[in-house]
Order: sequence, then C-alpha cells, then structure tokens
Amino acid sequence: SKVKVAINGYGTIGKRVADAVALQDDMEIIGISKTRPNFEAKTAAMKGYNIYAPADKIDSFKNDGYTIAGSIEDMVKAADIVVDCTPGKIGVSNKALYEKEGVKAIWQGGESKDIAPISFNSEANYADAIGADYVRVVSCNTTGLCRVIYPLDQKYGVEKVRVTIVRRGGDPGDIKSGPIDALVLDPIKLPSHHGPDVKTIMPHINITSAAIKAPTSFMHLHVLNIQLKTECSAEDVKNLFASRPRIRMIADGISATAQIIEFGRDLGRPRNDMWENCVFRDSVSVDDGELYFFQAIHQESDVIPENVDAIRAMMSLEKDNLKSIEKTNKSMGIGF
Ligand code: NAD
Repeated sequence: SKVKVAINGYGTIGKRVADAVALQDDMEIIGISKTRPNFEAKTAAMKGYNIYAPADKIDSFKNDGYTIAGSIEDMVKAADIVVDCTPGKIGVSNKALYEKEGVKAIWQGGESKDIAPISFNSEANYADAIGADYVRVVSCNTTGLCRVIYPLDQKYGVEKVRVTIVRRGGDPGDIKSGPIDALVLDPIKLPSHHGPDVKTIMPHINITSAAIKAPTSFMHLHVLNIQLKTECSAEDVKNLFASRPRIRMIADGISATAQIIEFGRDLGRPRNDMWENCVFRDSVSVDDGELYFFQAIHQESDVIPENVDAIRAMMSLEKDNLKSIEKTNKSMGIGF
C-alpha cells in the first residue's frame, strides 16, 4: 500500500510538495491543513485534497461552504508521515503533536537545525535519513549550494567555498516583504548563516557566505568562488554539472533570472517552477586555480523534489539515492 502523507501548512512550499507527492506511485496525500478559508484553500478543494483545519476554525470553513475532513490532530493521526510546511519557527510548536501520535515528520529550512537530528539533501546524505523519524530538508539556498559543492568535492576535493547570495526580497504572492527599492545587507555581520548551514550536511566543507536582499521576487542569485584541491578546467566543471540530476545548464542567451522564469513558463512547467539549480553555463570559469560561476535558485521550488526523496528515505521505500532521485525527477518532469 502507498505511504500516507499529510501536509501541515499549505503555502508556497506545502502546495508544491502536495502536488509532487500526488505524482508518486509509492505515496499518497491523505490531507492538507489550512488555517484560513482563503484562495489556497479554494484551489486545494478544487484539486480534490482532503482539507483539515484547526479544531476551532472548522465552523468558519463550513460557513464558507467547505467540506472539512477533520482537525489537524485527526490528519496527523491518519498519516504515516507529516511534511510540516508551516512558516519558519512555527513548525517547532508542532513537534509535540507528531511525537504524541508516533508519526514521522519532515520540517523545512526555516526551522533551526536542532529541530531534527538529520538535515537532508538528496545527493549529499540521503543514506543518513533511511528509516529516520525526524528530518529537516534544508533551505532553498542551502539545497542549491549542496547540489554544486557535493559533486565538486567528490570529484576534485573542495578546499574553500566563498559565496555571495543576492536574495529575493519576497515570494511573488507575498505582499508584506521587501525591500521595494534598496539593497539590504542581511545580515550586516558576516558571515551569513547560509554557507555555514551547508555544514549541517557536509561538516568538513570550509565555507563562508554573505547575503544581500534585493527588490526581486523571482529567484536568488549565487556568486560562487571555490578553491579546489585538484586542478581542473572550466570545461571539466561544466561537464560535471551537466551530468548531475538536479543541475540545469542555462545558456541560449539567458543572462538574468527573469529570463529563466520566462523559460520555465515556456516549458509549460507548473507555476513556472525551476526545480533544478540554474547554473549560467558561460559564467563557469577557472582563474588562477579558482573556480567561479553564477547560479540562480528558484526559492519556491528547488526543495520540492528533496522533500519527496526524504519521504522515500525515511519510509525505507528506496535505499539507493540515485534511484529515488531518478524516480522523483521522472514523475515531476525534472531534467526536461
Ligand atoms: P508560507 O507562509 O507561504 O506558507 C505557510 C502556510 O502555513 C500558510 O498557508 C499558513 O497559513 C500556514 N500555517 C501557519 N501556521 C500554521 C499552523 N500552526 N498550522 C498549520 N498551518 C499553518 O511559507 P513557505 O514559504 O511555504 O515556508 C514554509 C517553510 O519552508 C518555512 O520553514 C520556510 O523557511 C521554508 N522554505 C521557504 C522557501 C520560500 O522561498 N518560500 C524556500 C525553502 C524553504
């Protein structure tokens, strides 16, 4: 029988994880939770997902014409595993409920690394999550960094990584975040937490990062500079990246994040999602023994396939990470 998955928190990440899980032949969505009857609740109902709500909100959903399957507690009880996609620092308050019901749980990168004993990336440490009860899928930026650093380290050895992250100010549907017109040093004290978060997955990597928030909603942009332990050419690195399952080499005249999103639209992708790291092919250079390149990270979607793989590992559905990655990729259309 299929693994029963519940999505607690149906926002930017939750709705995408739900749709990706629904595509898998070894998993099913038994329900999603909504706290308010807004447009996202409406589309969840249209897609046929069972909707659960906080016990004290069920009446307000019913008054708005929704069919509610039960309380969030009921949903957790019915699940084998919960993917917690509530806002950062809220997910921790659900831990006691998951523990009480003996249900496995995945949290997202907005939670502290201490929420679960394992931080997860499909390529770098899938095996650590096999059979695990609690896992944190790291943030969009950390996921994007792991996907390039891991294969470089495997093949050439990484001496040191320096990365500057130009972060999107808010997601497209977010009407509260910013800036509207500024470049914000966030944080002003260096290093930012982003690079060091990579160490929760690859503790031996020497990495430092700086981050700037910019008035854009499409994607994050990483400016990377990496010292490798063995010599290689730009061509070698391009070939290595092109061989990885979740890196897309971006070319064909694209030199901006906006054009990548337009490309995603033209590819007919759901919500124009670009699940892969988008490495600007012509930026990949080696100078004086150091590797440089730009990559764009679609913050709304790059962690989605990692959540699917994390479920597969935790439920012991597949022991081989490359097989899980391939299965997830194929079902979602990643790589096409
Ligand atoms: P979001 O605000 O878009 O969605 C969160 C959803 O949870 C909302 O629908 C909200 O109504 C609901 N919610 C709030 N409190 C709840 C509760 N107590 N119980 C159930 N539902 C509740 O947030 P998001 O952007 O999807 O982020 C979710 C997590 O994913 C965070 O940890 C975040 O850091 C992480 N993440 C976000 C991004 C991104 O760029 N948006 C990328 C990677 C990881």
